[in-house]
Amino acid sequence: MFYLSRKSRLVLCDHCEGTGFIKSGWSEAFLKLEARVYGEKLKEDPYLLVVHSGAKGRNVAKFIHENRNKKYASYHVAWSENLQEFVQCVPFNRRAYHVKGSLGVFEGRKHVNGFSIGIALPGPYDQEFPDYVKEKFIRAVSDILIEVPTLKIVVRHKDIQKNKKDPGMGFMWNWLDSFSRFSLPFDFRRKAN
Ligand SMILES: [Zn+2]
Repeated sequence: MFYLSRKSRLVLCDHCEGTGFIKSGWSEAFLKLEARVYGEKLKEDPYLLVVHSGAKGRNVAKFIHENRNKKYASYHVAWSENLQEFVQCVPFNRRAYHVKGSLGVFEGRKHVNGFSIGIALPGPYDQEFPDYVKEKFIRAVSDILIEVPTLKIVVRHKDIQKNKKDPGMGFMWNWLDSFSRFSLPFDFRRKAN
């Protein structure tokens, strides 16, 4: 688990709805591959970023976008194998279903999707990720933090849901150590886990 601390970047907009800081919920930093089905508007500002990897293959974003089962979308931001890039699938002010409501628990709170943002690395989760995926992940997290300034903590899915293994060994906590290179005013403090 990482704790994020930073100077305030909160910019309120007269036209905001819902959580108060996210306008459309879509970030211009990402290409948009909208999920066919996603959840209701968040009722509180998300403060947790949950890192996943797709178990159903590398092309997580395509899976969410096409969504043949018409299930609720799993991640706000996910890897597109076609584009070799992270894309946004769900607005940041809407609920994505990336943590099982009754099984996922963060600091005693269930229904983690109500206060978190989900990002998915390519799957499966038992592989190492090439450097370009790591680089693009760091960039994607930077862009998410700009759009959702209330995020304070980063966890892996497996940290908060016992029956999950993602994002696996390929994701390294020290990826987040390098954030300073983007000149963003974030400080990361790693907590042992
Ligand atoms: Zn997961």
